[in-house]
Amino acid sequence: MDQLAPNNRTLSIVVPLYNEEETLAYTHQRLARLCLSEKLSDICKIEIIYVDDGSEDSSPEILKAIINSNTPALEARHIRFSRNFGHSAAVFAGLEFAKGDVIAIIDADLQDPPELIPLMYEQLCKGADVIYGQRITRESETPIKRLTAWLFYRVLALLTGVNIPKDTGDFRIMVREVAEAVLSCKEHEPFLRGLVAWVGYRQRAFQYTREGRKYGTTKYPFKKMFRFAALALVSFSSLPLRLALYTGALGLILSLVFFLWAIFERVHGQTVPGWASLFVAFTFGHSMTLMLVGIVGIYIGRLHTETQGRPRYIVRRSRG
Ligand code: UDP
Ligand code: MG
Repeated sequence: MDQLAPNNRTLSIVVPLYNEEETLAYTHQRLARLCLSEKLSDICKIEIIYVDDGSEDSSPEILKAIINSNTPALEARHIRFSRNFGHSAAVFAGLEFAKGDVIAIIDADLQDPPELIPLMYEQLCKGADVIYGQRITRESETPIKRLTAWLFYRVLALLTGVNIPKDTGDFRIMVREVAEAVLSCKEHEPFLRGLVAWVGYRQRAFQYTREGRKYGTTKYPFKKMFRFAALALVSFSSLPLRLALYTGALGLILSLVFFLWAIFERVHGQTVPGWASLFVAFTFGHSMTLMLVGIVGIYIGRLHTETQGRPRYIVRRSRG
């Protein structure tokens, strides 16, 4: 968007949630206050889309009451999954159902302050297609969470070819075109923040401080976090598959050195009979096996890319 949007634009706020009964009333109250404030209501129409990722607590009932209190000035919608499919699936569903020209994504616990959305919207209107929230501090989180998050973003940057911004969650705002590009990637288990980076367009960071959770507890226990990190690596890097090839190649070079060493030892008569040949055959054989596994890995990596079904390219604009 290159200039300030006219006020007939719609902004969709997508809120994924799972077992958030403690926070939902507070969340809606704070979002509603923001949506009805002049800051937003003067520049766009707003819809809030709550995507319930199969909650087992009383979240659906609370959401029903929220929907019943809809007014023409503020419309909320509720999508309920048949079971828990995960945060990414919930955000994807939100993007699919959103009618807005601009779409914001925010977690239900409001650890990312929704009051920043109008400021991000303003930045978007100044000439960007995605404004992503980048955390400058995470002081409210536990040291272990901070350490694992820090490590996650660094390892990801090291292993993937895509420039996935560091310390960036899913709190972001994007124009519809970007959301559609992301939705055109057909992989079964999408790593959303990676895909948003992958589709390109003009993306800018918006730095902010992430707050602590006010109500409820995290829905991302260590097991889910580990799965999430593994998904990120597997979705954007085939390096683990190629690792066997590299270690095999290294082993082959080493086996050559060992070969020369074994001959040297043999000539000087310092070895037990049969040692040199066994030693060389062992290191060489192992390295060859590893290399062959690595070559198979390259083909599997290609197959993996094919099955992800991402578009070959995305056109931002064409003229003439
Ligand atoms: N969430 C979800 N499905 C899940 C787990 C979490 O939709 O399987 C939602 C959750 O309700 C919250 C957001 O994803 O709105 C982020 O989760 P959480 O705040 O627990 O993660 P953290 O901020 O601790 O990393
Ligand atoms: Mg949270």
